[in-house]
Amino acid sequence: MSDVLIEVKNVKKYYRKGKKTLKALDQVNIEVWDNEILGVVGESGCGKSTLGRCMMNLIQPTEGTITLNGKDIFTLSKTELKEIRKKIQMVFQNPFSSFNPKYTIRKNLSMVARFYGMNSAETSRRLEELLEVISLDKSVLGRMPTELSGGQLQRLAIARALISRPEIIIADEPVSALDVSVQAQILNLLLDLKSNYHQTMVFISHDLPVVEHICDRVVVMYLGSVMEMGTVDDLFSNTAHPYTMALLAAKPRENPDVVKEEAQLQGDVPNALNMPSGCKFHTRCPRAKEGLCDCEVPALKEIAQGHVAACHLV
Ligand code: SF4
Repeated sequence: MSDVLIEVKNVKKYYRKGKKTLKALDQVNIEVWDNEILGVVGESGCGKSTLGRCMMNLIQPTEGTITLNGKDIFTLSKTELKEIRKKIQMVFQNPFSSFNPKYTIRKNLSMVARFYGMNSAETSRRLEELLEVISLDKSVLGRMPTELSGGQLQRLAIARALISRPEIIIADEPVSALDVSVQAQILNLLLDLKSNYHQTMVFISHDLPVVEHICDRVVVMYLGSVMEMGTVDDLFSNTAHPYTMALLAAKPRENPDVVKEEAQLQGDVPNALNMPSGCKFHTRCPRAKEGLCDCEVPALKEIAQGHVAACHLV
């Protein structure tokens, strides 16, 4: 097994909403391995972005620990915290709101470099290096964010995340706001970062085909819990969890009529403030068994090495 960079252990993130509790993350356990791209997928409200923000130390879990290289990221001194911020960086969904529109790209990026203690010569050198990595011409530095396309801005957002030479980049839906033609370029850039610069990434997405294309392993989440996790090859060819099957069935395919009826998703995601009893997925699951699935919470079980699923029928 590869070295573990980030370990998320028994993490819960709860929010009080009046008398009710919203369980955004509920007992999540995952590892991010060195030089992998770990995909985190699920529908809106599954907790994937909350997980990314917890890993970034932007929000603190209600319970549980998150460690980077064995060190708890929530029990750090101010100096250690600054060091950790260098090591974990984030790329957000919307590149248009990622930059201050009043400043040139040079100023936007230089401010980040200065924050990490680089002087102006080091900053210029680093920006030049990074422009080469993201395949953009130096002239973009003098441009205003509003003069650039979404694809160019997302490349620059990736460059900004790389300024501090992070060990991990958490990319939260980094291509979903872009045109399809540009998406492929950004995905290829992320793959290049992994193979040429040994960059580890967490890739948060609702888009399974994209995850299949770019990731090494996948975590499938539903209503704050992990439903299935495994390598891309294993999870896509030996899918075990009915929720993953349903997500896969929703993938665009050559003949849209060939969708197994039992795999189709029924209904909407339940209100997170009224979480279903037993298996959280039972209200939509075509295989749900009354008296079992609505009563007992299924534990995550290992089906094959590194491949786990939380379903009574597995
Ligand atoms: Fe469906 Fe039951 Fe499995 Fe949940 S435990 S996924 S409801 S079969």
